Amino acid sequence: MTRRKSNQIRIGNVTVGGDAPIRVQSMTCTDTRDVPATVRQIKELEEYGCELVRLAVPDAEAARALKEIKRQVNVPLIADIHFDYRLALMSIEAGTHGLRLNPGNISDPDKVTAVVKAAKERNIPIRIGINAGSLPKPADPSLPIPKQMVAAAMEQVKLLESLDFDLIKVSLKAFDVPTTIEAYRDIADRIPYPLHVGITEAGTPRTGIIRSSVGIGTLLYLGIGDTIRVSLTSTDRRQEVFTAWEILKSLNLRERGPVLVSCPTCGRTEVDITKLANRVEEALMKIAKPIKVAVMGCIVNGPGEAKDADVGIALSRKQGIIFRKGEKVKTVEEKDFFRALMEEVEKVQQEEKK
Ligand code: SF4
Repeated sequence: MTRRKSNQIRIGNVTVGGDAPIRVQSMTCTDTRDVPATVRQIKELEEYGCELVRLAVPDAEAARALKEIKRQVNVPLIADIHFDYRLALMSIEAGTHGLRLNPGNISDPDKVTAVVKAAKERNIPIRIGINAGSLPKPADPSLPIPKQMVAAAMEQVKLLESLDFDLIKVSLKAFDVPTTIEAYRDIADRIPYPLHVGITEAGTPRTGIIRSSVGIGTLLYLGIGDTIRVSLTSTDRRQEVFTAWEILKSLNLRERGPVLVSCPTCGRTEVDITKLANRVEEALMKIAKPIKVAVMGCIVNGPGEAKDADVGIALSRKQGIIFRKGEKVKTVEEKDFFRALMEEVEKVQQEEKK
């Protein structure tokens, strides 16, 4: 995997692009005007490893609320603006760290120019966020959708460059995974700016996690993507952040928290491995440090995987063999599987603190 080289920008205290880690982003689903609820959700996202948070700014009251929200959280905020460029100006005034504009609905160059000037004065990056569902009228309607998306983005990129503005990030999102991949591949060689990658309107967690993992995962494997967002129809935004981290971890691009190796179970399983794996996963979610834990159902692959992990359990009939750092440490009865495994997890963490 060779990562595409991009310019580096800074959104608040977070670097994006260049040699910065690929950043995890999410978006609140609270009413931005409801400051306590929005702050609560942002803090929850942050706790799960979200590094950039986008907020909808649909009206002036929401733009004003940004100021107080910003005062109460640590993670950089990006104001999401549609239709009314004045809301972008108000958000800048309120102290937003970044802006996302959709050229499909703020197409008047004079209005974009006014926003760019204000952003430039305060070093605030702008994401040109193209969405296949709200493309501006194309100059050539016969172009395939990915080409139309790229053309729309390039028009805005040129406008921003003509204003001597280069704190640019670009996204080209569609629901259709091949369309999204084609659009990003096309633009990746044309511009030096960081790319925010995601599959838009990906659906409920059941299907959205898969669409996002395939789309974002493919692009990241091609070296494309400096920030990612998993978009899910769910009020539990932690799932977006959790999934985004799992995508990065599965490609060995970043490390955060535990990795759980668990077998799919089969006819050899003699204990409820699903229940045990879910319980362990739940408990591990509270750990931020990288640790590999294996929960394996029998002695076929069990000891091998369990030995390879920092901590593992390989079940054999009604007994569990516990491994820590490749060494067998004890054999426990079924009632003690969870407790004994988590004790070893705790020991590994304590050892690493020393
Ligand atoms: Fe089946 Fe054992 Fe493999 Fe689990 S580890 S899937 S129980 S063979």
